[in-house]
Amino acid sequence: MNTIRASFLPIAAKCPGALAAGEALRVETESADVARNGSAVHEVCRSIVASGERTQTAVQAAAREHRADADEIGRMSWRAFQWWEANSGAYPGAKTELLMQLEAGDYRLTGHADVVSLPSDAEVRLIDWKSGFLTDADAEPQMRAYGLLACRTYNVQRVTATVVWLRDETEQTWTWTADELETWWREIVRGWSHWDGQTFTTGEHCRYCPRLTACPAQRALMRATVSDLEALETGGQIEAEGVGKLYARVQVVQQMCERFRELARAVVAAHGPIPTPDGRELALVQQDREEIIPAEAWQTLLNIIGPDALAEACKVSKTAVLAAVAAKAPRGQKGKAKDALMDELRQGGCVRVNTIEQLRLRSRPTDEE
Ligand code: SF4
Repeated sequence: MNTIRASFLPIAAKCPGALAAGEALRVETESADVARNGSAVHEVCRSIVASGERTQTAVQAAAREHRADADEIGRMSWRAFQWWEANSGAYPGAKTELLMQLEAGDYRLTGHADVVSLPSDAEVRLIDWKSGFLTDADAEPQMRAYGLLACRTYNVQRVTATVVWLRDETEQTWTWTADELETWWREIVRGWSHWDGQTFTTGEHCRYCPRLTACPAQRALMRATVSDLEALETGGQIEAEGVGKLYARVQVVQQMCERFRELARAVVAAHGPIPTPDGRELALVQQDREEIIPAEAWQTLLNIIGPDALAEACKVSKTAVLAAVAAKAPRGQKGKAKDALMDELRQGGCVRVNTIEQLRLRSRPTDEE
């Protein structure tokens, strides 16, 4: 029996070859940092749904436990909190992370949606919090899988599934009937059962495939990409068309290199330094970095460098400030207190907007946009 997690459907629904990865049937996130941030933010989201509150203590505890970036967790969980405050009325009796599963032939499908609510005997509503970027994944197959699991588990006829993208501050919602999901699932299982063992479907989804480093189709693409890169002249010129053609493939090569780096780190951590052919060795090297503790150093710094230089040297975390304001405000007034503070700061010329530019793959705008 192959156990397949719903979170693997965005890959396995597109390419049955990915199932040959065997036990590792789960979505590989881009890096350990992304995975840690995802776990931490989900933990805070769980407490938001359970208590209706988002406390700085919960954010800090989740960040500490998962060794995640507290600022990131603060930002994303704040968006989750705002979304939940605006929409929780549509999710009566919401439950979090209930394990659901079903069996079909040789396959067992499992998954837990982040939030499950049954507003009536006929309908189930689901939420999935996403800490990645909307462009990074096609969430629909995963939500269909949750929808099917929920329809079977609760014996309902209709499902509304929403993905809340915490970074992009956007959401996607789908509605399906139980019959539509059963038909979809039969087609998927048919594709898996009849896979010829040789046909692979490459695409964006490959970035998260556990078989990425062993996949014959990817190896062929990799060889072609490396040879295209070698063909670039040093310091070189490249046509726009060439950039567009190569960019996604180079990302996959880069991802392979990252995986190798993580693997190398794990091997060195387990077995100690590894000699390299050039006479050096690969080792984990510790480096201490001093950090000034603001509360302890404040008076000393004021005395020595003065208030202006101290202000220049400091960076104020917007997330931490807003959390502090919220912590002081009474329940139901937290959002207003934060908005009022930000308005006051903006009006006082205390807020600067820094625009950063990132190179990212995204959907092409349509003519109407
Ligand atoms: S890496 Fe290979 S096996 Fe995995 S989804 Fe892509 S083509 Fe399929």
